[in-house]
Amino acid sequence: MDSYDLVVIGGGPGGYVAAIRAAQLGMKTACVERWQNASGKGVLGGTCLNVGCIPSKALLDTSHHFEFLRQHAKEHGIDADARIDVARMQARKQKVVTTLTQGIAALFKKNKVTWLAGNGSLASSDTVCVTSADGKQTTVAARYILVATGSVPATIPPAPVDQKFIVDSTGALDFDAVPTTLGVIGAGVIGLELGSVWRRLGAEVVILEALPDFLATADRQIAKEAHKILAKQGLDIRLGAKVTATRVEGEMVVVDYELSGSAQSQCFDRVVVAVGRKPCTTGLGLEQVGIATDPRGFVVVDEHCHTGVGNVFAIGDCVRGPMLAHKASEEGVSVVERIAGQKPHLDFRLVPWIIYTWPEIAWVGDSEQAATAAGRRVRCGSFPFMASGRARAMGDTEGLVKIVADADDDSVLGVHVLGPNASELIAEAVAVMEFGGSAEDIARTVHGHPTLAEAVHEAALAVDGRAIHF
Ligand code: FAD
Ligand code: AMP
Repeated sequence: MDSYDLVVIGGGPGGYVAAIRAAQLGMKTACVERWQNASGKGVLGGTCLNVGCIPSKALLDTSHHFEFLRQHAKEHGIDADARIDVARMQARKQKVVTTLTQGIAALFKKNKVTWLAGNGSLASSDTVCVTSADGKQTTVAARYILVATGSVPATIPPAPVDQKFIVDSTGALDFDAVPTTLGVIGAGVIGLELGSVWRRLGAEVVILEALPDFLATADRQIAKEAHKILAKQGLDIRLGAKVTATRVEGEMVVVDYELSGSAQSQCFDRVVVAVGRKPCTTGLGLEQVGIATDPRGFVVVDEHCHTGVGNVFAIGDCVRGPMLAHKASEEGVSVVERIAGQKPHLDFRLVPWIIYTWPEIAWVGDSEQAATAAGRRVRCGSFPFMASGRARAMGDTEGLVKIVADADDDSVLGVHVLGPNASELIAEAVAVMEFGGSAEDIARTVHGHPTLAEAVHEAALAVDGRAIHF
């Protein structure tokens, strides 16, 4: 029987990053991954690279360029006659995915991580059984086991996915034509991003969201402004709209939903079910080695991701916490560094959230409402991109930066960005908060001119009532 210091089950951003870091730390490491692409070839990268972060961003970028050419190029003095070739857009997306997944296979080779292609399950707390696609079974011994099996799209009984008319996020990344009308169930991150892609390409998009509030966990001011901007773009977001039934009639999907107590119905060419994700933890042999899962199927772990059984750990989407690629990766790194005797620390409060609509929405830390509810006295400063020279030059003036600081010691409690490149701007905020910085620290930091980051600087000045340009 082959034996390893560490066997990782799952090669997504949680598992593959942990495997590479473990190998760097001198551990003999294997990673079990079962994913196969459309041609039946085994691939690494998990949800994130194959059907998640990367393909969605590829389509968001293409559709963003398309919308620019159609709606904004004119004001830049560019006359363009833009048409979308969906097949070429999808081929480009696939090329991006293939290049990156092959890159991980190359990184495994470089770092001497053994990729065991197949389905992994726990035979005991120190052995893993790998079943390859042809049914062959091998068992390997492991001093440590890391479960990083991720998640799959959640479903709801009223909208069974057939991947033709009613699709999940994977199906919505793969449409071969722009639907004339698209219904999206769920106005979470995935629903908003995929709804934006197809709206920009010409679909009439209606998003049905059961909750009464838009982006309930975001800062209220940011959520309200984002809702207004996305609605102006043409995303028809209906809040308090709970889908109760769907049926395919001919080539259309009829969706029944309840809105403020009244029954409504609407027909769409296609419907995307984007109601969240559920952990992928069945068939792993967890019960037989005594590892607990919670009622929703998440592996139960302590603050160091230990399952409480032997040397078995679990990370990423299959455990508690935000279902985000960077959270999975950092958790994986901290587990293997701890195994190697280091003392890593991961602060969940400082995991940034990003929604890649345009303008983008990003935040870290507490909203004004959450900080106040937690009993903090806060001072907020905000700065609109309308007043930023760089944003004006770009023609991207919607949105704002908002900083929530502690009124007593000025420490930054949260930073919220709705605006162009918010996904990149939030990194400064995370770094400042990681160092326990204050709004004054940002205010006294030199920011290049003209940059979008100056809006972060000005928002920090605004906390003290001394913004210069607004
Ligand atoms: P996964 O990426 O799900 O990887 C788990 C892997 O384990 C899979 O490859 C699976 O095949 C494998 N596996 C499962 N069971 C077994 C088994 N028994 N044996 C062998 N292998 C197994 N997050 C962001 O941070 N930013 C984004 O922009 C973003 N966009 C997204 C867009 C979409 C459309 C979707 C669907 C998700 C998006 N996410 C995004 C979420 C992100 O993809 C996940 O949080 C991330 O992939 C979780 O990483 P993971 O390693 O825990 O799990
Ligand atoms: P997220 O978990 O961020 O991907 O968001 C999923 C969203 O789907 C949540 O905001 C849910 O409220 C929403 N949702 C879940 N079930 C339904 C339903 N039956 N009808 C409409 N929205 C739903």
